[in-house]
Amino acid sequence: MPSKNTAEKRQKVDTIIHAKWLIPMSKSGLILEHHSLIIQQQMIREILPRSEVENYFFSDENYDLNEHIVIPGLVNAHGHAPMSLLRGYADDLALQPWLEEKIWPAEARWVSEKFVRDGAELAIAEMLLSGTTAFTDMYFFPDLVAKAALKANIRAHLTSPVLDFPTVWAKDPDEYIHKAMTLHDKYKNNEHIHVGFGPHATYTVSDQPMQKLATYASELDIAIHLHTHETAQEVQQAVDKSDKRPLGHLHELGLLIPNLQCVHMTQLLDDEISLLADCGVSVVHCPASNMKLASGLCPTGKLMDAGIIVGLGTDGSASNNELNMINEMRLAALLGKITSDDASSLSAWQALHMATVNGAKLMGLGEQTGTLESGKFADITAVNLNRLNTSPVYDPVNTLVYSAQANQVSHVWVAGKLNVKDHQLISLDAHALHEKAKDWADKIQAQA
Ligand SMILES: [Zn+2]
Repeated sequence: MPSKNTAEKRQKVDTIIHAKWLIPMSKSGLILEHHSLIIQQQMIREILPRSEVENYFFSDENYDLNEHIVIPGLVNAHGHAPMSLLRGYADDLALQPWLEEKIWPAEARWVSEKFVRDGAELAIAEMLLSGTTAFTDMYFFPDLVAKAALKANIRAHLTSPVLDFPTVWAKDPDEYIHKAMTLHDKYKNNEHIHVGFGPHATYTVSDQPMQKLATYASELDIAIHLHTHETAQEVQQAVDKSDKRPLGHLHELGLLIPNLQCVHMTQLLDDEISLLADCGVSVVHCPASNMKLASGLCPTGKLMDAGIIVGLGTDGSASNNELNMINEMRLAALLGKITSDDASSLSAWQALHMATVNGAKLMGLGEQTGTLESGKFADITAVNLNRLNTSPVYDPVNTLVYSAQANQVSHVWVAGKLNVKDHQLISLDAHALHEKAKDWADKIQAQA
């Protein structure tokens, strides 16, 4: 027992987390064994060896994670959260028939405020339970996705949709853009909600609104998040129409700016990769979605060698069909090797870097989250590696990426607040979400 004198010198803090393996991601390969995170007022105050903690700090909230790897919260850099209600609705189809024959008609019939609210909460619950603490989204009614994110205590980067054609959210490009600006204005000082522009693709948004987005994005310094070069067919159709590949066309329009995030990018020539690097454009890789829709292979190794920031995303549940960043890291690492024909390409550490550091940068939050360092938000994920499928452990990051399952995520904090405790979701009602999802499927199936 410390003497009264010592006890008085020690400072009381909100939370202390003791970890078997702490992976700050501030430096590749750095593994801190038996270290502790000191959390005070949403932030990481200090990281120090466990043996030294009681000399300086004490807390009523202590977590002994003695079998766990503790990492920065995972960042899902691309998705369509409310589409979780269409999980399994249209499988085993290529992108165009999947979109045109199944997804767009279903969305036209079913998307409403209630659909978005229920679908977003279902998606957020799944993301939190699998260790995600921040996500980028592109969907209708982003204001309601924002509300769901605030309710659940998760960070969200909402890229407000822009299309040429009318939907339940807006009637024409001007209205989509106006709604995006209003949303940005509403949340510009919010620490959990960040807003960008989400033009769907070059084949669904025409030149004039695209150019407006480039101007506004630069003025406001917010992201333009765009599906691009997703399939060979998309590129060919653009060539047939205008004699230009989509990236060349975007370049002429002045869209290749550092605010641009190109999602998918499975069809790239070497000079296009150089152009992206020169213009500071970033890329989001969605391995499961690209494989499921047979879209193609994103050349992640070449992109990263060129110095391009590459984030990692699940895409929506209708083309994945899960929002599980642990599995997405594994797929990125495996696919990276096949794509570059090099087994040393895209290591487990690089996959974790994409899913944490790079994801945070793409959200514009590189200074606030993405690594575990003092002064950053306490956005933290703990994964219990004490299971047969993750034993023994030689390198905990390799074990996490190549062997761990999402249900090994035991604890998740966002801004120091606990969302998942002992594998249980505490910020949303998992049972109620399960019931709502069943009700939606019954309704949608009855009229399919
Ligand atoms: Zn997408």
